[in-house]
Amino acid sequence: MTHNYEVIVIGGGIIGHATAFHLANNNRNVALINTIDYGLPASIAAAGLLTPYQKEEIENPFLKNFNFKSYEYFLNFYQQIKDHVNIDLGFNISGSLYLVFSNSEFAKKEMETRELKNIDSNISFLNKNEVAKTEPKITKDLVGAYHFPKEAYINNPKFLKSISQYLVDKSVSIFNSKVEELITTNNKIEKLILTNGKSISADQYVLCNGVWANKFLKQMFKTDEDFIKPIKGEILELSGFQVQLLNKIIFCQDGYALPRPATNQFENPSILVGSTSEEIDLLKHTNPFNNSLYGIQYLTKLFNKLFPDAKDCFIQDHWAGLRPKTKDAMPIIGKSENIENLYLGLGHYRNGILMGPYTGKLLCDLIESNKTEFDISAFKLERFLKSNYTKVLN
Ligand SMILES: Cc1cc2nc3c(=O)[nH]c(=O)nc-3n(C[C@H](O)[C@H](O)[C@H](O)COP(=O)(O)OP(=O)(O)OC[C@H]3O[C@@H](n4cnc5c(N)ncnc54)[C@H](O)[C@@H]3O)c2cc1C
Repeated sequence: MTHNYEVIVIGGGIIGHATAFHLANNNRNVALINTIDYGLPASIAAAGLLTPYQKEEIENPFLKNFNFKSYEYFLNFYQQIKDHVNIDLGFNISGSLYLVFSNSEFAKKEMETRELKNIDSNISFLNKNEVAKTEPKITKDLVGAYHFPKEAYINNPKFLKSISQYLVDKSVSIFNSKVEELITTNNKIEKLILTNGKSISADQYVLCNGVWANKFLKQMFKTDEDFIKPIKGEILELSGFQVQLLNKIIFCQDGYALPRPATNQFENPSILVGSTSEEIDLLKHTNPFNNSLYGIQYLTKLFNKLFPDAKDCFIQDHWAGLRPKTKDAMPIIGKSENIENLYLGLGHYRNGILMGPYTGKLLCDLIESNKTEFDISAFKLERFLKSNYTKVLN
């Protein structure tokens, strides 16, 4: 049977875009299908932090290695996109500061940081006065801060748009449509049905539709279990400052703040403050993208704690997005063992912007050669399937 495409990528967030990018570079005939009906994709809602040295990221050894590898790869991927579109993408290796407010916090953080210093010997502790020299506008009510010089940020909405532009220029077919159904026969996806009733088909399919993947996964793997949980996160964007408030990314126990500089004359420089974290039930929430009173209060309080003297600012924007989280907080990346032409790029939780480009490369390598340079066996979907799962699904 002749198919319309060699590969169809379902979902146009960072994972879908990065996968299509690598396939297009290999001259594959690719379609990317993405709907805007579901609201803000996580890849637009994200803060754009590229911060592999933070605690949650380093606690799990698989994630730790994957994050560092992803960071390295990100720099290379970013440069290719930047060279292509030739516009400011708000990328900056600014470094980050993790603020420590008490001696007990210092002792705890010192333990955590010891191992990281073996990875980057430039990680250091700055005392209160040194912090004040680097960031004169942040609170003085602290013990000091750990400095992670390699951490970075990017304007992720602009970045995603630029990857989209790259795909268009590489003749990837981009459909603004929803995949309603995946038709499988004999453990193989035969075709998919779009909202307008039309069907299209490909040799291979990559599922990377974020928190909305459960419907297809449940259907294909005959289970009632949700593989991906939506974790709502809210962000506040503040601007209107007379002076530059922030140079680096600031972390503390309660959240983070980072600069989002203007990338052209029509934008204001701003600061993003994030983020809340709440598991929600998509079936019960009528609008999961609303900012809650609690969220706005929490983020305002955090901003006031970090910048006690910044009175001359206003709320420029606020939004909420859904982080796709698996049970073990590790992504699902790989080729399905049960559906022979299905590949999965899901569940990147808090670090999808950072991990997205490398995930796209690995998925492309799997499709091309069934091999990857990085061991992704810990990221298999099958880790969540019951052991008595039978290979004969249909
Ligand atoms: C508030 C917040 C802050 C974050 N901050 C950071 C950060 O600073 N750094 C970082 O690295 N990560 C961050 N993340 C995490 C990161 O955003 C996600 O891990 C990543 O964006 C997930 O990308 P994705 O492509 O899997 O999903 P998404 O970006 O959600 O994309 C999925 C797309 O699939 C589409 N879709 C769904 N179903 C269908 C269908 N049936 N047919 C067609 N299209 C479909 C959706 O409409 C959507 O456009 C943050 C997330 C949030 C919510």
